[in-house]
Amino acid sequence: MKIIPRQLQRSPLRWPLYAQILLALVFAVIVGLIFEPSTEIFGISLLSVTSYLGALFLNALKMLIVPLIVSSIIVGMMDLDADMLGRLGSKTLLYYLMTSLIAIITGLLVVNLIQPGLINGVAARDSTGLAAGTNEILQNVAGRGPSDVADVFLRMIPSNVIAAAADGQMLGLIFFSLLFGYFVSRLKDVFADTQKHFWQGLLAVMMQITNLVMKFSPIGVFALVCKVILVSGLDAFAPLAWFFTTVLLALGLHMFVTLSLVLKLVARVKPSRHFRAMLPALLTAFSTSSSSATLPITMESVETRARVSNRVAGFTLPLGATVNMDGTALYECVAAMFIAQAYGLQLDITTQFTVVMIALLTSIGVAGIPSASLVAISIILGAIGLPLEAVGLILVVDRVLDMCRTAVNVFSDSCCAVTIARLEGENGVLGEAART
Ligand code: ASP
Repeated sequence: MKIIPRQLQRSPLRWPLYAQILLALVFAVIVGLIFEPSTEIFGISLLSVTSYLGALFLNALKMLIVPLIVSSIIVGMMDLDADMLGRLGSKTLLYYLMTSLIAIITGLLVVNLIQPGLINGVAARDSTGLAAGTNEILQNVAGRGPSDVADVFLRMIPSNVIAAAADGQMLGLIFFSLLFGYFVSRLKDVFADTQKHFWQGLLAVMMQITNLVMKFSPIGVFALVCKVILVSGLDAFAPLAWFFTTVLLALGLHMFVTLSLVLKLVARVKPSRHFRAMLPALLTAFSTSSSSATLPITMESVETRARVSNRVAGFTLPLGATVNMDGTALYECVAAMFIAQAYGLQLDITTQFTVVMIALLTSIGVAGIPSASLVAISIILGAIGLPLEAVGLILVVDRVLDMCRTAVNVFSDSCCAVTIARLEGENGVLGEAART
């Protein structure tokens, strides 16, 4: 006999995962704003507790990356013939290039329209006293140059695949796995069966472990976001409010207009369904600020929630997490233009074109880790004749904007998977059976 009312029988833990993560996010902001970093729980500072829990969650995600992407790419490649591979490859690269370019142009238009670097027509650096900061991030970006971009292609062929895996060199690992999977598809008889069963089994196990880690994402999200709010607070944002608004507006336009149109017109699926299916991945990207760490959750969401085949998801997503960064490309452009405006520099159309091209190229080379854009922005600043320290102007707000641009990066990869799957004739994608 049931004596507890129905509503009360549903414990919060039975809520859909995205609702749990959203609740964790809101809770993290409230706790972060109410308490001080030094507030103690059982004698331990709140900041240490959130840092510790956040690091645990990040470790769990990173632990999945190597076995998951290797098995996923190999399984995806096993059934591809050379023709299909060429088709998938060219469509994917075209998508990645086009969406990144549109993102940068959106950023360029919005930053020229709003001109966040000028306050009442005066360069913001003088009128607000914005100072270029110096800290470890500046040391980090010092000495970087365009050769970093060229190095990306060098890293694509790793001299030691085990070292590439250990160092998290994704591109090298992807390249090796693509080759391996392709030649597994050419094996015959018993070797073919053994290899196929082994990699399929490994992938199935990795998906299960990913599922388990996802169950803890509300705690991980809470810890990571709470830590950011505790450390940065809200006061620091005031002088950069217009820059902040410009970036958010441009990211919003790209995500909710451009990419939604791609979903609607090219993939012919309901954008709202795709958003719902991707919520766990988007919220994880938001809280971790790392597309690479989010990759396992992105794959889980795209394959099991949106129902894209492993053949397409296994190929497009690992590649996308490494080379396709729409949010980052857009941010690089807006940030460089903002800094130029704040320094009172008028950029002519040719220089703006240079900014666009470098933003496009560097966004391919930027790693899917927190604050990676800062290196790319310093390359752009160097190219347009601004000092490296100028990047210090945006450091205060970089972390929160990093959360937002990473979510856009991940969303674009997932839209690519859905679009290519639909173009390849997959009918079940985001259909009635999809678990959105
Ligand atoms: N954090 C971003 C990512 O992982 C890269 C960046 O823009 O800094 O996708």
